Amino acid sequence: MRLLQSVPYHGAVTLPSDPYPGTHRDLSAYTTLRVGGLADRVVTAHSDEEIISAISEADEADEPLLILGGGSNVVISDQGWPGTVVLVRTSGIQKTDSCGAGTVSVAAGENWDRVVEWAVGEQLAGVEALSGIPGNVGATPIQNVGAYGQEVSDSLQRVRVYDRRRREEQVLDGAECGFGYRDSRFKQDPDRFVVLEVEFRWENSSESKPIRYGELARMLRVGVEDRAALTDVRAAVLHLRRGKGMVLDPADHDTWSVGSFFINPVVDREKADELPAEAPIFPAGDGRYKTSAAWLIQESGFEPGYRLGTAGISNKHSLAITNRGGATTEEILDLARQIRSGVADRFGVELRPEPVFVSCSL
Ligand SMILES: Cc1cc2nc3c(=O)[nH]c(=O)nc-3n(C[C@H](O)[C@H](O)[C@H](O)COP(=O)(O)OP(=O)(O)OC[C@H]3O[C@@H](n4cnc5c(N)ncnc54)[C@H](O)[C@@H]3O)c2cc1C
Repeated sequence: MRLLQSVPYHGAVTLPSDPYPGTHRDLSAYTTLRVGGLADRVVTAHSDEEIISAISEADEADEPLLILGGGSNVVISDQGWPGTVVLVRTSGIQKTDSCGAGTVSVAAGENWDRVVEWAVGEQLAGVEALSGIPGNVGATPIQNVGAYGQEVSDSLQRVRVYDRRRREEQVLDGAECGFGYRDSRFKQDPDRFVVLEVEFRWENSSESKPIRYGELARMLRVGVEDRAALTDVRAAVLHLRRGKGMVLDPADHDTWSVGSFFINPVVDREKADELPAEAPIFPAGDGRYKTSAAWLIQESGFEPGYRLGTAGISNKHSLAITNRGGATTEEILDLARQIRSGVADRFGVELRPEPVFVSCSL
């Protein structure tokens, strides 16, 4: 079943071209960390039919299958992938209006930030604080992408998926997606669903949703929970993100990363009480507390700019592990392991990684 017919969009939402469309097997070319070995086969899929046909072919041959969007949240082994990689490159966006809101369906292969830019231009509020996040629309529900007080689950209505277990298309509503903090049903059951299209409901407004992030509110000179012009929010978020190396820039090695390598840990009351008084602690519901992975990392001696060979912590943010040029996956992982055990030794807190590990582990 289709939510809406996917149609080519002739506005600002266009895809970046593949570095080596469909033929190049070196997976480092498709990841923002620029690491990863060779795949047996790479298929570039420009339509849902091409995606489903590549999946069915691999599944019937019992061949390992890897779905890739923008490659900005994966760490792929130096040994590569012993099977088929499908690059999702579908396009299309469609909007319908009802009751002061716009329902927008977007093909999985559209570039996320171009869609946010388009939404802001159309005066649709709901994802402006998610400006500048790399990757494609189809991956946003996988880890429930979030930043600056917004998450995609806040405005996601439905997801059209291909269910590899049932071998059919399905439509899941938001409640069926099992969203949590950087988590979802898709992340928990990674080999089952392939996202084909995501439907959002955004408010028709030139003003943003209430600003929920202190740093962003300060930059905009408004109070937390106030609204601001959509264009100002997008500009402020991009400015803040650039200062942290969180907007992709091929010339800047601080952005050769997967963004935050570790998730902010959520701990129980006892552990929160054991942390030093200056540790940032926020209530996370159910009597649990969220603390800052960046703070724990820095206080464990891993400052921005820390290096381990050609892997290194970004000069701009202690949560980003970066490739300084020529790093291997093992070097990136060695640095991540060093940081994780340093934090465990110093604070007794186990850091959980954010990216998806492909044929490798921490
Ligand atoms: C500089 C930088 C900054 C970042 N900032 C943020 C941030 O602020 N907030 C945040 O949440 N994340 C952030 N990220 C992480 C990343 O951008 C997001 O997780 C993004 O949604 C990943 O999209 P992608 O298309 O690159 O996914 P990929 O890396 O290609 O894939 C990620 C996972 O999703 C799966 N997948 C991809 N497409 C599909 C599909 N169509 N169907 C099913 N599975 C699929 C893949 O198999 C893989 O398991 C950042 C990354 C970088 C490099």
